[in-house]
Amino acid sequence: MIFYNQPMPELPEVQTILDALTPLVLRQTIIDVTPLWPPVVDRPDNVLFRQWIRGRQIIETSRRGKYMLFHLDDDSWLVLHLRMTGKVRVVAREEPGRPHDRFIFHFDNGREWRFEDQRKFGRLYLVEDASEVIGKLGPEPLSDAFTFAYLAQKLTRRTAPIKSLLLNQEIVAGIGNIYADEALFRARIHPLRAGGSLTHEELDRLVAALKSVLNQALLEMGTTLRDYRRPDGSVGGFQNRLQVFRRTGEPCPSCGAPIQRIVVGGRSTHFCPREQQMMAHSNPPSFERI
Ligand SMILES: [Zn+2]
Repeated sequence: MIFYNQPMPELPEVQTILDALTPLVLRQTIIDVTPLWPPVVDRPDNVLFRQWIRGRQIIETSRRGKYMLFHLDDDSWLVLHLRMTGKVRVVAREEPGRPHDRFIFHFDNGREWRFEDQRKFGRLYLVEDASEVIGKLGPEPLSDAFTFAYLAQKLTRRTAPIKSLLLNQEIVAGIGNIYADEALFRARIHPLRAGGSLTHEELDRLVAALKSVLNQALLEMGTTLRDYRRPDGSVGGFQNRLQVFRRTGEPCPSCGAPIQRIVVGGRSTHFCPREQQMMAHSNPPSFERI
């Protein structure tokens, strides 16, 4: 049996986690914190972080790209990025800890918000202005700002592979390895095509495919391959809908050709070699607009 690493949570996973977390943290007052592994706090330093956050109440939650934002009652922002293996849960104080717990927020209602992270890449930020952390992110792919015209303008003359450009959070926020591969397959675009070489038709298909695959994954509450869990421990459902991601050698669900794996910009990339070609082609018969 092969154990793959779970890829970083992407937009649908982060949104699903935040939706479950929000009712458990909203309007709660943080009376203290316990940094079990202090480097999880990116900024400010742990001493200032603790002074600042004690007594603060979480008044609003939101997501931007792969970041979770917690607006505090002094108008500052607590920001969390789960990275590879970060998990959150809210439990009673008496609940035993787990080996990879890294940070604990103690609420005045007797419960604790615990951040667990085996690989230790997850980070917490406490800032006066959220743009200090998320200011450079591109638009949300499901927003009206993410259009064919926007993408066309961003990709003009870009020679990098479209797969890498989709992972660039400054072009579009929240997309990672899973949904980039799935969207490129649905739009029938080869992942190595230079971003600037995509035709208007292809860009139109790609924007539609990204929105469609992300919306579908949100409905399924994300993709669980290994570590990703919703805060109640349950798994997502989109792994059952993956058409190419980590299906190397399996028949393409559309044409039957074996799915191929290549490495693009250091990232595993999966595609159908018959339908996703290096030459632009318009209106592939198998593309269904959803
Ligand atoms: Zn195919």
